[in-house]
Amino acid sequence: MTTTISKTKMKKITGGCLRALSSLSSSSERNLPSSNSLQVATAFANSIESSSKAEKILRDLAQKISESDRLYYDEAKETLTDGEYDLLRMKFEAVERKFEELRGKFDDGMYSRVGSGRLASSSSNSSFEYKKYKHLSPMQSLKNAFNADEVREFDERVRKSLVEVLPAAALQKVEYCAELKIDGVSASLRYENGKLVRALSRGDGEFGEDITRHVLSSSCRDVPRELGGEGSSYPEVFEIRGEVYVEEDALEKVNERKSANGETPFKNARNAAAGVMRMKEQNVDVPLSFIPHGWGTEGGDRAELFETQIEFYEKCQKWGFSDLCLTRSAISSDLNELFAFHAKTYDLRDTLSHKIDGVVYKINETRLRDRIGSDSRAPKWAIAHKFVADVAITTLKSIEVQVGRTGVLTPVAILEPCELNGATIRRATLHNFFEIERKKIQIGQDVVVERAGDVIPKIIRVATDAERITSEENAKEASSSSSSLGAALGLSSSSSTSSSLNLGGASAYAAPMLCPCCNSLVSRDAEDGMVIRCNAGLKCPAQRTARTTHFASKKALDIRGLAEKQIEKLFETNAIERTSDIFTLEERFYGPNRNEEEMPPVWARYENPAQKKKHEFTKNALNMFAAINDVKTNGVQLAKFIYALGIPFVGEATAKELAKTYKSLDKFKEAAERYHETGSRADEESDVDEKNGIKISLEAVEGVGDIVAKSIANFWSEPNNANEVKRILDNGVKILPVFGGDVSSSSSSSSRTNNNINNNNNKLSNLKVCITGTFTSKSRSEIQRDIERLGGSVSNALAKSTDILLIGENPGKSKLEKAREIAKSKGGRIVLVEGFEQFQKDWLTTMEEDRDDDDDREE
Ligand SMILES: [Zn+2]
Repeated sequence: MTTTISKTKMKKITGGCLRALSSLSSSSERNLPSSNSLQVATAFANSIESSSKAEKILRDLAQKISESDRLYYDEAKETLTDGEYDLLRMKFEAVERKFEELRGKFDDGMYSRVGSGRLASSSSNSSFEYKKYKHLSPMQSLKNAFNADEVREFDERVRKSLVEVLPAAALQKVEYCAELKIDGVSASLRYENGKLVRALSRGDGEFGEDITRHVLSSSCRDVPRELGGEGSSYPEVFEIRGEVYVEEDALEKVNERKSANGETPFKNARNAAAGVMRMKEQNVDVPLSFIPHGWGTEGGDRAELFETQIEFYEKCQKWGFSDLCLTRSAISSDLNELFAFHAKTYDLRDTLSHKIDGVVYKINETRLRDRIGSDSRAPKWAIAHKFVADVAITTLKSIEVQVGRTGVLTPVAILEPCELNGATIRRATLHNFFEIERKKIQIGQDVVVERAGDVIPKIIRVATDAERITSEENAKEASSSSSSLGAALGLSSSSSTSSSLNLGGASAYAAPMLCPCCNSLVSRDAEDGMVIRCNAGLKCPAQRTARTTHFASKKALDIRGLAEKQIEKLFETNAIERTSDIFTLEERFYGPNRNEEEMPPVWARYENPAQKKKHEFTKNALNMFAAINDVKTNGVQLAKFIYALGIPFVGEATAKELAKTYKSLDKFKEAAERYHETGSRADEESDVDEKNGIKISLEAVEGVGDIVAKSIANFWSEPNNANEVKRILDNGVKILPVFGGDVSSSSSSSSRTNNNINNNNNKLSNLKVCITGTFTSKSRSEIQRDIERLGGSVSNALAKSTDILLIGENPGKSKLEKAREIAKSKGGRIVLVEGFEQFQKDWLTTMEEDRDDDDDREE
């Protein structure tokens, strides 16, 4: 029931960063401590009855820790995993907490040993000796809080110590500065007269190792050699303390390079930072970053230099340090606000450029800090509020594949049930298939499940052997010490069985090649390559309701009366199996022997069947047929049809561009197939137009980049989609011809001035209308809507490309003049329409009015 705790926790206990510096052993990706292991440690301490027994236990623990450290530092041997080591440390601390009188009695050994400067010994490539220097004032570490209650207790202690110096009102307003706790390696930079003279590691807190040349290496950009800023002042001699870290992006690059060179990659960003500082070579190719978090000065480190923490950060920014310390901190006297900051930071932690493991609260006003004071190890005016997640170890029984409404396949872990934070966990998310591969997760293995807050539980990684053993031991320990302890720890019989060793029988998992729902081909989503998607959007049962709803929606085919609810019902009752079936509903409803007396089938009764009479059902059904038939008789614009297909990343605008370019569905499909074959644009120079048989590549279409092109190619390469489109067309849906292509049936009508016009149903299609002046009969936005409904667009500015200028009362003079100029100029084709009534008559005639003409012409 345990996993790793953060290294800062260890730093606090050891008072040195040495273990952290050389902790290349960390196997965890995130260093979230487990509240369970903390509970285990606390329970362990609570089970000790007497001080004498505690003394013996502390001595024993100290010895184990020392021995582990010795082997680790002196012989580069790792006898314990981080998880085990951390648990020892936590137990040690918990016992010390319970038996105050023993505090500090047994950790001296550890302190002095850490200070003995074995920094480089565990590094394979050097036996380099570091020079040691004394810090101006001790470099303390921070106390940790693992939950809100512990922070509240801290706050109470702080306020208690200020009661005498502050009136009640002021006490209420005492502010904390909350800032991100970046997961790196502490360092102290000594500046004399504004010039950097030395950089030290934390060391034992009193003496630090000289890491000046590492910090000064060209890769550490964030450390100014000289404090800059116009007119800014600085103390004569002082130290700026902060965290040296490696950004995530940089780490990725470094690791890529290391892997390519056959070297072992760094396990995480902190390891990388620590690794750099242990390296002998001066020019290390790992970019280090630095963020300040405090300062030190001779004879104390507090008030006289800066009045508040924020003032310090403001100065740091001026001096040339990273402004992250300013931009990523918050000030508040309200604990709830601090907790909100903590929660928000937790949510955002994976999006930041650097790893963080919590939030630090510091009393902002330095004058008050002196009053509150410090103990031997840490200041009493600051605390680190760590990120805590509950973890459990259990067996991965199987992996289930879910298909979402948009066709995205997600792996779901089916687990041996385990208890986590009071809930029984049976399923957990695995994010995506590439994570499974990357983390080498296999069915039958023991895995670490994490659950933070109310978030869906997730699989973090495969459990290490040691963790499984520790987990088992903890379960045993808990159940043997007392019966209630087990319950208090959230341990149950199921969790102990689930931690059974699963060394054999694990099997590799391969991401599916076919959609588990419809057996169609799947593809990697083009967006980031991390998503697997079922390509058969129109056929796949998992997607069919969402896809068909999209297909019938207003901006697509606009089939009124076919909303999501009705479509769901149609699928449920098997009235339709796929989108194309909606166009044969009427036929099937009446059957070969049309009997209008018959009760409509169940799918027609999609609303409150109990309250509806037969004729109402029939009316419903008839309305639905009418709406569907409307689409069949009126036809569909190509752009709307393309949009209706629901191809990922093809929105309305892109669909319009595609229609404009290819002018027929077949040409569009051909381009997609060409792209699928060649992978990208095959004919770069000749993508102008198709008049001379030149093929236009997908990527030449405006708004179509790599991602969209791949998505389109994927859509058409799935035979199920092509078949489904064919079925839709076969079932009577007509795509309206687009003028300007090779479609001969289109005609232009008398009043048109622009050859962009494609058909009579939409006179305004692709026309740009500019409006000037006011109108009494309709508002501008109403007019705009009318124009857009008919496929036109409205712009406020008059341009050469404007087709129509609609002139109202009090028109803008300059617009009018410009329009007349354009009209007169060579090739100018602008139409000036005065008054809305005229405009309506000429341009806004409805489809019905137009259809008469169409019918005449077609017949
Ligand atoms: Zn599918």
